[in-house]
Amino acid sequence: MIDSSTKHIAILGSTGSIGTQALEVIQELNGPVKVHTLSAFSNVEVLIEQCHQFQPKYAIIGDPNLLGSLKNGLEDTDIQALEGQSGLCEAVQDDQVDMVLTALVGYAGLEPTLKAISAGKDIALANKETLVVAGELVMQLAKEHKVRILPVDSEHSAIFQCLQGENLATVEKIILTASGGPFRGRSRDELMSVTKHQALKHPNWDMGAKITIDSATLMNKGLEVIEAKWLFDLEPEQIEVIVHPQSIIHSMVQFNDGSIKAQMGLPDMKLPIQYAIGYPSRFTSGFERFSFTDYPTLTFEQPNKKVFKNLGLAYSALNKGGNTPCILNAANEVVVDAFLKEKIKFLEMGDILETSMTKIPYIPIPTLEDYRQTDKETRIKTLELIN
Ligand code: NAD
Ligand code: MG
Repeated sequence: MIDSSTKHIAILGSTGSIGTQALEVIQELNGPVKVHTLSAFSNVEVLIEQCHQFQPKYAIIGDPNLLGSLKNGLEDTDIQALEGQSGLCEAVQDDQVDMVLTALVGYAGLEPTLKAISAGKDIALANKETLVVAGELVMQLAKEHKVRILPVDSEHSAIFQCLQGENLATVEKIILTASGGPFRGRSRDELMSVTKHQALKHPNWDMGAKITIDSATLMNKGLEVIEAKWLFDLEPEQIEVIVHPQSIIHSMVQFNDGSIKAQMGLPDMKLPIQYAIGYPSRFTSGFERFSFTDYPTLTFEQPNKKVFKNLGLAYSALNKGGNTPCILNAANEVVVDAFLKEKIKFLEMGDILETSMTKIPYIPIPTLEDYRQTDKETRIKTLELIN
């Protein structure tokens, strides 16, 4: 798994926000990490450019209709072009791969991640939906195959960094920080007519469309609560959320003696990406440094679960367990997509999600096949509620 000289990394979702920043990190590190696989869903032009620059073994396009264009663009290289989920699953299992960075969006991350774990590859996990859908299964498999799941999400990276050298049994609780998104402090009435354009303007982070909408509804924090449960083996009551609009403290851990450790820095995803890729080493970086005098006031407030009901729905899904978080995730993917296509309004996302969660049969201990079915059925039911 961990190669002492060069680490070979497969990047799932290399044309997105996390994927492109990971490539910048790898380029700036200049040597210790080599790109083994690049992949995109439909942005074939950027994928071809990245392939020419990084010369991976595999290039994978999610949309099978674009395989021809990818092959044409790579004619002058030895790079093998593959397509779809089967392509991702094949590439991540390759003998040369040491680590897989899961930077694709949504449920699509689950199966390639499971394949990578089964093949003994360490995971740098950005795709939080994988743990939301099937956290128990993923963590169990990781344990069996002795692979590391290294968090890329900034809050979870912060907690992971705070936990270095600590005994997990001494953790009293963790405190996940949330920026509050673009609509912090608004009432439900004020949110009735907010537009997609307004929701896509995050105050502190520049991210892909789906996670930006999730941040505006606070669903992102809800998904992160579930992600944290599985990564750090916590009970729901040990996971607290606090709104911290400046996004300087990335999250905190409180121990059994009352001591709190926080990890801080400017909001820049390159840092947690580099930490996950480099772990257990901490590489030098030229990232901009934080200055306390530039931020004389760091503030904190309670999240408003009445206005942002998705956060409460995520806690209920976590408490109920079984396939409920999988239902929550699938319904959320569908409503966010519908909002981005301007088929539903901002507040309807939470309302439809809530109804959708009551429509699918509960399975207490789901198998992988149960998760597949739950995901499929939830999407159908949620689309019916929208149309
Ligand atoms: P993005 O939309 O910018 O990029 C997604 C990438 O995945 C693109 O390369 C896209 O082509 C590819 N992709 C999408 N669907 C796919 C599919 N079905 N099959 C194959 N490839 C597919 O998204 P992002 O903001 O980079 O987020 C990626 C993941 O990282 C998400 O799970 C998100 O929650 C998580 N994350 C992102 C940030 C951030 O700052 N962007 C922070 C924390 C966590
Ligand atoms: Mg986050």
